[in-house]
Amino acid sequence: MSRVYNFSAGPSMLPEEVLKQAADEMLDYHGCGQSVMEMSHRSKVYDDIIKGAEALLREIMNIPDNYKVLFLQGGASAQFSAIPLNFMNGSGKADYVITGQWAKKAFQEAQKYGEAKAVASSADKTFSYIPKLDKSEFTPDADYFYICMNNTIYGTVYHELPDTGDVPLIADISSCFLSEPIDVTKFGMLYGGAQKNVAPAGLVIAIIREDLLGNARDITPTMLNYKIQADAESLYNTPPCYTIYICKLVLEWIKRTGGLEAMKERNEKKAKLLYDYLDESKMFRGTVVKEDRSLMNVPFVTDSEELNAKFVKEATEAGLVNLKGHRTVGGMRASIYNAMPYEGVEKLVNFMKEFEKNNS
Ligand SMILES: *Cc1c(COP(=O)(O)O)cnc(C)c1O
Repeated sequence: MSRVYNFSAGPSMLPEEVLKQAADEMLDYHGCGQSVMEMSHRSKVYDDIIKGAEALLREIMNIPDNYKVLFLQGGASAQFSAIPLNFMNGSGKADYVITGQWAKKAFQEAQKYGEAKAVASSADKTFSYIPKLDKSEFTPDADYFYICMNNTIYGTVYHELPDTGDVPLIADISSCFLSEPIDVTKFGMLYGGAQKNVAPAGLVIAIIREDLLGNARDITPTMLNYKIQADAESLYNTPPCYTIYICKLVLEWIKRTGGLEAMKERNEKKAKLLYDYLDESKMFRGTVVKEDRSLMNVPFVTDSEELNAKFVKEATEAGLVNLKGHRTVGGMRASIYNAMPYEGVEKLVNFMKEFEKNNS
């Protein structure tokens, strides 16, 4: 068996230990004679899986009791509509910071339902930085304030959260979920698609402060109503059962490898290796301002389209796959999520050094 190092932005690598455990448990989960894929979501054995996943997530992220944890479907993209439908029902206003395509899509969706305001944007420089925020631009009676915490396509992250006072802060954490500790109490809602850092595709995890629930607009589709999902403990209908099971295995892996503090240390070490090389290389350079660099997604370019294409091709042949950058940035992007081992980044950097030597 030969596994590649997969630098895809998502779906992305899963820990090998988790894949092996899932394989071992595939035909007969814990002696019940069936696969998790086949069992009823209303069975006792499945209830232990979904409740276990929630309990582990609460423990690992230190989620207070006044927050609900929801396992949802529809991708992060469905939440772009669900968020205004559930929360934009006081003043009917909300603030958005436009730091990339995902923030922009969320903003555009909210504009359908109320007065969504873009309080800042970094579109002028292809989203290569996190804009400085001017509090006098914030809407004092907004129903919420929305950010995309880690910008998967552009490779930026908020190192400091906006101070929104009493206005609940909502963050899309799809591409930095479980990558480092996060203070849940600073947020009204945190959510993310699982396919970047938590599990296979098909699952969204939402963490919502309880007092914000119950204000959804009447027209809100039942499936998008967070209060209904919370009251049904994420079992209003059939949840993505198998994906939640893998999520539980990933959470167990995080716990036994030292939790989020240790995860952060490993992620910093991996990212430093790559960024340090980008800073010293004469051929490759990062596309993002240094102070806003993401630990998870690292876009970089050479000055030549031809070299970029050659690099991606030769890297693929060397077992370093999915390094082609997003079409709006060009060049390359290495997504180095939790499951990417240090050796994978090391191999990439060594490959880049060789490539630079052979092509300059
Ligand atoms: C991938 C991604 C999305 C879109 O997720 P889907 O599950 O495909 O809808 C949204 N936001 C961020 C930050 C992402 O990385």
